[in-house]
Amino acid sequence: MKKLRNEIWTGFSRVYTGKNIVKKRGRCLSYSDLDDIENVSVIVREGKIKAVLPTAKVGASLRKGLKKIDGQGAALMPGLIDSHTHLVFAGDRAGEFGQRCAGVTYAEIAQQGGGILTTVNATRLASQKMLLDLAVQRVKRAQSFGVTTLECKTGYGLDFETELKCLRVVDQVRKIFPEMTFVKTAMPHHAIPQGVSRETYFTESLQFLSRLHKESPFEAVDIFVDQCYFTHQDLKKLAAWAKRARVLLKVHADELVCTGSAGLGAKLGAVSVDHLLKISDPDIRQLAKSNTIATLLPGTALFLREPFAPARALLDAGARVALATDFNPGSCYSLNLPFMMHLGALHMRMNPAEVFAAVTINAAAALGQKNRGAILPGFIADFTALPVGDSGQASFEQVLYHMAW
Ligand SMILES: [Zn+2]
Repeated sequence: MKKLRNEIWTGFSRVYTGKNIVKKRGRCLSYSDLDDIENVSVIVREGKIKAVLPTAKVGASLRKGLKKIDGQGAALMPGLIDSHTHLVFAGDRAGEFGQRCAGVTYAEIAQQGGGILTTVNATRLASQKMLLDLAVQRVKRAQSFGVTTLECKTGYGLDFETELKCLRVVDQVRKIFPEMTFVKTAMPHHAIPQGVSRETYFTESLQFLSRLHKESPFEAVDIFVDQCYFTHQDLKKLAAWAKRARVLLKVHADELVCTGSAGLGAKLGAVSVDHLLKISDPDIRQLAKSNTIATLLPGTALFLREPFAPARALLDAGARVALATDFNPGSCYSLNLPFMMHLGALHMRMNPAEVFAAVTINAAAALGQKNRGAILPGFIADFTALPVGDSGQASFEQVLYHMAW
C-alpha cells in the first residue's frame, strides 16, 4: 500500500477506527470496544488523517485536490504492525526442522553445532546484496498479509561487521519500500558466539554498539535474557546504554525458563518485553502496572511445541498486549501476522478487540510509534483492507476466521 498523501478513502462497507481502544489506551477491552462505522469517508492530507466523516457530508470543497480511493465494499482498518521480526539473515534451517520432526531435540541440534550458529555462519558469509535480496522478498511477503509497519532486528551477525551489514540492509529496504514504515532494532545480544565467554562477548559488544549506532542509527536495542544467554546484570547495563543513547529498550524475556526478566524489563522502562512463555505471576502484576507492552509470539510457541504465553492472565490483570510473528529461521518461519491473530483469538482466548489492539496501537507503542494504529484525525494514514467473506461481508472477524489463508 502506498504512503498516503492527499486522498479520500471512500466506498468501504465499514471502517474500524479503533476509537474506543485508543480511549482505553489498549487495556481492559471487551468485544464491544471494536467499533466500526458504516458509510464514512476518510480524508487524508499530507499523509495524516484529517477527518473521518459520513460520505454524505463530503461536499465538493472537501474533495478538492484529493485522489479518490474506492474501497468497493471492503472494510478498512489501521495498517497491521508486526512489532517483532528477525528480518535479516541468510540461509534456512529446513534440514534441522526435518531432524526435529524425526525426534531430535532443539538442544541436541544445538550441541551438534546447529541452531542459531548455523544462521550466524551463513549470515557472516553472505554479501550485503544477497541479504538485501532475501529481505526484499520477505518484506513483499509481509506486505501481502496487510502489514504496513515492520520491526527488523539484527542478531545473526554477533560481530561488528556483520551486525553493521544487517543494519545497512534495513536502511536499503527503507528506500525500496517508502510506503512502509520500518523500525530498526540492533540485537547483537541475541546469542553468544562460539569460542567466547559471555562476559567477554557482552563487554565487547556493548562497546561496538555505540559505533554501530553512529554508522547506521537504530531506534531500539534488544537482548535475549535467559538461561545460558544473557543475565539480569547485562540487561541493566544495556538499559543504561539505551538511556544514554536515547534508544528504546526491548527484551526477549522468560522464553525458555522463568528468570524474572519481564518484570525487570518493565522496571527498567523497556518499551516491550517479548515471548513471556514462562512469566511469573508477580511479573504479570508488575507488567499490568507499567506502560511496557507484553508482546506475545504464538507462532514461536506453536513451532516449538510449547504452551502459549498466558495471554488471558496478562489481559485480565490489565497489561497491554501486542501480537507479532517473531519471524526467524529457527523458531518461527512465518510472516503471516493474520495467522498469529487467529492463534491469539482462538488458542489464547483473546477477544476480537484485544486482537485488534495487539496489532495496531499496542504494537505501535511497542515500537515507540506515536499517532499510529487508529483511523482518527491526527493519526498517520496507514490502512489495511480486510477480506470479504464468501457471504460478501467484509469484517475484522474475517481475518481471524481465515486460518493461515
Ligand atoms: Zn525474537
